[in-house]
Amino acid sequence: MAGKNKNGEALICSFCGRSADQPGVGQLISSPTGATICRNCVDICQGLFRGDAEKPAPADAFEIPQLKVPSPMAIKTELDKFVIGQEHAKKVLSVAVHNHYKRLLHKRELQNGTAGAEDEAIDIEKSNVLMIGPTGSGKTLLARTLARMLDVPFCICDATTLTEAGYVGEDVENIILRLLQAADYDVARAQIGIIYVDEIDKIARKTENVSITRDVSGEGVQQALLKILEGSVANVPPKGGRKHPHQEYIQVDTTNILFICAGAFIGIDKIIQRRAGKQILGFKREEIEQDALSRHAGSDELLRNCEPEDLIKFGLIPEFIGRLPIVAALKDLDRDDLVRILTEPKNALTRQFQQLMAMEDMKLTFRDDALVALAELAMKKGTGARGLRAILEEMMLDIMYQVPSQSKIKECVITADVVNNGVEPILKRKTVGSKSRKAVNS
Ligand code: ADP
Repeated sequence: MAGKNKNGEALICSFCGRSADQPGVGQLISSPTGATICRNCVDICQGLFRGDAEKPAPADAFEIPQLKVPSPMAIKTELDKFVIGQEHAKKVLSVAVHNHYKRLLHKRELQNGTAGAEDEAIDIEKSNVLMIGPTGSGKTLLARTLARMLDVPFCICDATTLTEAGYVGEDVENIILRLLQAADYDVARAQIGIIYVDEIDKIARKTENVSITRDVSGEGVQQALLKILEGSVANVPPKGGRKHPHQEYIQVDTTNILFICAGAFIGIDKIIQRRAGKQILGFKREEIEQDALSRHAGSDELLRNCEPEDLIKFGLIPEFIGRLPIVAALKDLDRDDLVRILTEPKNALTRQFQQLMAMEDMKLTFRDDALVALAELAMKKGTGARGLRAILEEMMLDIMYQVPSQSKIKECVITADVVNNGVEPILKRKTVGSKSRKAVNS
C-alpha cells in the first residue's frame, strides 16, 4: 500500500481516477504491473463479488455535488453589479445558466432516487453557450462572474493553442485538466464546473492549409472539441502535456460541464447582413443593406439575428454549432458605457485607485470631464474596456509615484487636461492645523 510512486508523486487510482492526495482517498494498493486501486473502488468491487451487483454504489467521483441555483433574475441582478450594459447577453446567460444547473439538480434527484416517476421520463439536454461580441466588451467578465456567483470551478482556455491529436500543440483534454486544477483535483466538483473557451472564432475552417505541423485549418480542433462539448468521459493526463500510452489518467465526465465558447467573429455582421439582404427582393437592395449596416453598427441587434448558417459560412462545422445552441450577442461599448465602467462596478477602476489613495489619507477625485476623456481615449484604442486600465495606469503612474510622499496634500483632482495633455493634477493642500488620520492613529 502506498500514497506515492517512486518519484514521490501522488498515486492515481486506475479505476476512478482520483489521486491519493485528494481528501477521502487515502492509501492506494499497487499491483506489480503498475495498476493502482483506492479503498472506495475496492469496496465497490467487494460489493460486486458479494452479489449486490444489481445496484452498485455509485463512485463518489460521478456523484453530483449539492448546488444552490439562484433564479434567472437573481443571477442577472448579481451580474449587474459587475458588468455594465450588455442587457440582452446578461438575460440570455442568466436563463441558460439557471436551466443548466436546474438540469443538474434534476439529475441529482434521479441519482438519489428522489425524483417522481414522471420526471424520469424527461431527459433535459445540456445547452452550451456561444458568446459573440467585440474584444473587451465583457465576455470573459460575464463568465467569470457567473462561476464566482455559483461557486463552481472555472477555467479559461484559448482555442488557438489547441490542436488535433497528432499535431504540434495542446490536446483538448488539457482544458479539462485546467478545470480539474481549478477544482483542486476534486473530480466531482470539476464535473459541474464552467469552461470558458476564448478565441473560438480563430478555429474556424480556412480554405488553405499552410502548415504540416499544426492543424491550421481548425476543423480538426472543432472535431476534437465535439466530444467533450457534448459529454464524454475524458482521460485527463494529471500533469498535462500530450497523452502517451504509459501514463496514468484521471477520468472526468464532461456531461455536466458548462462550456461557454466566445469570440469576436469579425466579419460575421456582414455575413448576417448579406443573408438578411437576400431575403429583400427587388432593386435598391444594396442601399437597404448599407442603411441597415450603418444603423446596426456597434449594436448587438444584428448579431442577435445570427443563425447557424451564418456560423457555417464563417467556418464553424455544423456539428460544432449544434453543440452550442444558445447564442448570446454582446455589443460594442459606447462612451457612456465606458464612463460607467470606470465608476459603477463594485470593483471599478477609479474606486481601486481611490482606495489606494485613501490609504495615504488622501482623496482622489475624477472630474466628469476626465472620465469622458478617458473613455474617449479607450474608444480610440479600439480594445473596448480593456484599454481603460492601461490608460489609467499610465496616467496615474507619476501621481502614484509622487503624491504618497507629499503629506501636506489632502486631495488630488484629475481633470480632462490631465488625461489629454498630461498636465499636473490639481493638488489641494491641507489647511494648517488639520491632522491627518495617520497622525491621529500614531
Ligand atoms: P472580452 O470581451 O474580450 O472577453 P473582458 O471581459 O476580458 O473582454 O474585458 C476586459 C476587462 O474590461 C474586464 O476585466 C473588465 O474590467 C472590463 N470590462 C469589459 N466589459 C465590461 C463591462 N461590460 N462592464 C464592466 N467592465 C467591463
